[in-house]
This record gives sequence, C-alpha cells and structure tokens, in this order.
Amino acid sequence: MALIVQKYGGTSVGNTERIKNVAKRVAQYRKKGEQVVVVVSAMSGVTDNLIQLAKEIMPLPNEREMDMLLATGEQTTIALTAIALHALGVPAISLTGAQAGIVTDGVHTKAKIQNITPKQVHALLDAGEVVIVAGFQGQTLEGQITTLGRGGSDLTAIALAAALKADLCQIYTDVDGVYTADPRLVPGARKLQEISYDEMLELASLGAKVMQSRSVEFAKKFGVVFEVRSSLNDNPGTIVKEETASMEDVVIRGVSLDKNQAKVTLVAVPDKPGVAARIFNALADATINVDMIVQNVSHGAGVPATDLSFTVDKADALKATKVIETLKGEVGYHEAISDEKICKLSIVGVGMRSHSGVAAKMFETLAEEGVNIGMISTSEIKISVIIDLAKGEQAMRAVHRVFLG
Ligand code: ADP
Ligand code: ASP
Ligand code: MG
Repeated sequence: MALIVQKYGGTSVGNTERIKNVAKRVAQYRKKGEQVVVVVSAMSGVTDNLIQLAKEIMPLPNEREMDMLLATGEQTTIALTAIALHALGVPAISLTGAQAGIVTDGVHTKAKIQNITPKQVHALLDAGEVVIVAGFQGQTLEGQITTLGRGGSDLTAIALAAALKADLCQIYTDVDGVYTADPRLVPGARKLQEISYDEMLELASLGAKVMQSRSVEFAKKFGVVFEVRSSLNDNPGTIVKEETASMEDVVIRGVSLDKNQAKVTLVAVPDKPGVAARIFNALADATINVDMIVQNVSHGAGVPATDLSFTVDKADALKATKVIETLKGEVGYHEAISDEKICKLSIVGVGMRSHSGVAAKMFETLAEEGVNIGMISTSEIKISVIIDLAKGEQAMRAVHRVFLG
C-alpha cells in the first residue's frame, strides 16, 4: 500500500464543483488501496480578499492578527473537501496545521517549520481515513497560529511528504506542469518533463509562482521528489528532482518574470565603513528579505557620498521605507525613494555553468527591444536584471524567443 500526499492549489478548489472533482480524484486513488493525505489551499482569491479587508482598516496590520485571519481561508477548504469525500462515501477527516502536528517558529506571516509530529495523521490513515490538512499554516510551541508565507501550501505538502516518508508527492495546480516560462505570459512556453531542484528553486525565487520557493528548498534538503501536474486533466506533469548529468546539455531551462519587486534607493549615503551594515541589519531585524543590492561609486566633494539601491518584495516596501526612515538621523542620507514600477527578468539553467556568452546574448536581446537595464545580478545558474515594469512582458517574450525558440 502506497502513501500519497496530494496538494491542491486555490484554483483547483476554487468552487464547490472543483472541490467535488478533487474528491473524485482522491476517491480513485483510495479505491486502488492507497493511503492519501490531501493538502488544500484557500479557495482562489480568498487569501487576497482577507488581506484586502485588513488593509481597508489599516495599511500595516498586526502580523499575529493577520495569521489568525489568513488561516481561516484554508480551514474553510479542508472542511468542504472532507464533506465532498463523505458525499462519495469515502471516510475522510480534516485537520488544521496544528492538529497535523506542524510546529513553526513565531515569525508571523512567514513562519518556518521547525518540526512535524505526524502521529495523529498516521493513526487516522491506519484507521482508513483520507486525511485532509490545511495548507499554509502551523502553530508555535506556545499555541499561536502562524502562516508560512504566500504560496505556503506547497511547503505544507512537501514537508508532510518528508515527515510521513510518502511514496509519492503530487502538486496539483491549474497548469499541466512547470513550463519554460509562465504559459499565461509567453504563448510559446513548453512543458518540461523534468527539472532539477536548483533550477526549480531559482525559477520559483525569481517569480515563477507555480511553486513556492521555500517548498523547493525543503524538497531539495530532504530529497522529496515531486510532480507538478494539473487537477483539470490526467496529463503527466513535471518531475522535480536532483540534477542528472544530461541536464547540463540544456543551456537555459526557463525564463521568469517577477512583478512583485520594489526598489528602494537611498540617495547620498555617507560613504564610510559600517553604514551598509547598519542599514541591512535594521532591515533584517524587521524580517525583511532584501534581494538585489547595488551601491554606486562615490560622488560629491567634501564628505563622499554614494547612492544605495536594493530590492524587496512589494509587500515589504512600505515596511522597508519605514525602517529606513528611522535611520535617517543616524545614517545621514539625503532621501529615500521607493519605486514600485520595476520588475525582475531572469533566465535560469544549470547548463550556464558550461556555456559562455549567455549574459551577452541576453543583454543584446534587451537592447534590441529598447529595454534599459537598471540592476544586474548573477549566480552560477541564473542571470537577473531589473527593468521597467511596463516593458517586462515584452522583454520576457523576446528573451524566451531567443533562448528557447
Ligand atoms: P496554485 O493555486 O495551484 O498554487 P499558483 O497560481 O500558485 O497555483 O501557480 C500556478 C500558476 O503559476 C500558473 O497558473 C501559471 O500562470 C504560473 N506560472 C508562472 N511561471 C510558471 C511556469 N514556469 N510554469 C508553469 N506555471 C507558471
Ligand atoms: N492561501 C495561501 C496563499 O494564497 C497559501 C497557498 O495558496 O499556498 O498564499
Ligand atoms: Mg501556489
């Protein structure tokens, strides 16, 4: 008897018809004698709506209360999914993250899983139940409800698959698998049969929201092989696994666009030791993840000064500017400017390690499209550029055409 973890995302449980379809699929697996753990997201749009409601009251709501609020989205879906299975005569029981034994740290809205004690899940499976677990949520040791960051149901599924030593982990979504680029933005995007953890991790962190990046990190760490596939058909999906030798033959595996970035620039920061450390320590203390950082050469006579730019998630931009403002007197910069009209375009592939000229080709393509590059960052297997938001999709299609046909 195999143990399968299946995760269904927001669109896959977007209305009661879809939830009934999920129940049918689960029932089929169970009929074959498999034990099934189902992880579900909130119905599509629900998490966004809840965030909107809170922001109508105040722009920076308390993060503990946000977790209390957002966790309700998934709680609705687990119960409806259990009811849909009951309607088919399948024994099923829903569990919150806490009931499933998911213990996290106390960093509200982006908590990290510390451990999972799936005793109750095992017991219920052994008693013949389908176990339905609320994605995206956990609980601290002190009993506070936490959430795992946007897209966090992927992490719940991967972490449960690791903790339960599942034989199979399937991530059901609204596309057939992982594509060379978001198929909604690039009509010529192709479905990949397989992709390495490192490539999937880069694509995910660089904006391909098909998988939450932290979930891929977790899968890599614990060797959880998983399949991304559609809940709307039976097509085989994309297998995400450890890199194999032949994967290096492909130079670029995919292109991604992240429109969720904002750039903060500190104008005329005194150019002396300790300033950058002070700024980025303050941001880290506020649990703001900084992505790219660029510091220009010094300018001005007298006290040398420099411009310092960094990028953060749009959701953190306001918080970042607030933190920076508290440092104005101490650091002595001229002004802080936040720019939300930017995006990050990236190309990813393990084959980049063994092929040269990739960056040149990307920059040339952007030049031909009349796209100006604001910031550049590279790693062994990716190149990212910050460009004008309005030109993001056009640039993405051009780069995809040049590298992936
Ligand atoms: P779910 O609600 O199932 O978690 P998401 O909306 O989080 O689904 O992720 C699926 C979406 O990711 C797709 O609808 C697609 O538009 C988008 N996406 C972005 N990049 C890619 C890619 N490279 N391959 C497939 N889908 C992608
Ligand atoms: N409902 C959460 C979100 O919208 C978690 C998830 O869907 O994975 O981010
Ligand atoms: Mg998702």
